[in-house]
Amino acid sequence: MKQMIGIDIGGTTIKLALIDSLGNIQKKWQIPTNVEENGRFIPQEIVATIQANVLGKDELAPDIAGIGIGVPGPISPDGNFVVQAVNLGWSEMPLKSVVEKVLSIPVTLLNDANAAALGEMWKGAAKGKQNLVFVTLGTGVGGGIIIDSKVINGVHSSGGEIGHIAVTSDETRICGCGNINCLETFSSANGMVRTMKKLLSEAGEVRGDFTTVDIFKWLDAGDYLAILTLDITVSYLGQAIAGIMNTIDAEEVVIGGGLSEAGSALLEPLKAKIDQHIFPQIRGKYMVSQAKLGNDAGIYGAVYSYLSTQTN
Ligand code: ZN
Repeated sequence: MKQMIGIDIGGTTIKLALIDSLGNIQKKWQIPTNVEENGRFIPQEIVATIQANVLGKDELAPDIAGIGIGVPGPISPDGNFVVQAVNLGWSEMPLKSVVEKVLSIPVTLLNDANAAALGEMWKGAAKGKQNLVFVTLGTGVGGGIIIDSKVINGVHSSGGEIGHIAVTSDETRICGCGNINCLETFSSANGMVRTMKKLLSEAGEVRGDFTTVDIFKWLDAGDYLAILTLDITVSYLGQAIAGIMNTIDAEEVVIGGGLSEAGSALLEPLKAKIDQHIFPQIRGKYMVSQAKLGNDAGIYGAVYSYLSTQTN
């Protein structure tokens, strides 16, 4: 059977897997992300770990049909290089040609959030679906929009950048992208903590350092400020997702990332908020679910992305 390699490059680790065309993981491993000297060693370290772990020197080495690589940044329209990946120190990194040249195996590049979206569609929460809004809630808000099984990448590789939809607030929160009051400044894990801190300071309360896990614990205990924080977080997110749903009318909304681990404590109020703003024709006819693949979504999606270049 045809085998592929799926790779997910993150800021601290690079995850790799040998996956067959049915989506079974044959082998999975990871290496640390070497961000020294603007990440210039990463491509050769990826090549080396594939040679060491998969290709080897013996005749039993599997025949690798292709490699899919998810990267934390936009890909050039021709699919040949990574335009920029701030966490890795990359700009204009010709990752595809570097890996292809050494291994003589075709490489497909895609954005990591788009990879995770495809992974969830192929093997995860939206298995069998073809139209999907995928949102990751972590330090930022990432997204991937899939229509008819294809990721909407856009003309500038910025399709699905849900985190940078503007929201209206009396506050001014500057986003990492340079704009003001992007969704992720409110509805990411970081945004949620920031909201809680603001409410605490307005109430004259001090609770030291905390994370969203603490906020959900306080919420469980009926803490009013935690309830208000979740309400603010979910309001902005729900309105944005309802807007996307009203635009593309997908079958399912999948929520991933660290914040999604709160489960129904997050998803139920979020669904209620989306329902409040969604077009009546869609209301009650779509799903909101928690991502299933966790850290593996990207490697599955990277392989799926390679496979889809072969069938089209
Ligand atoms: Zn932004």
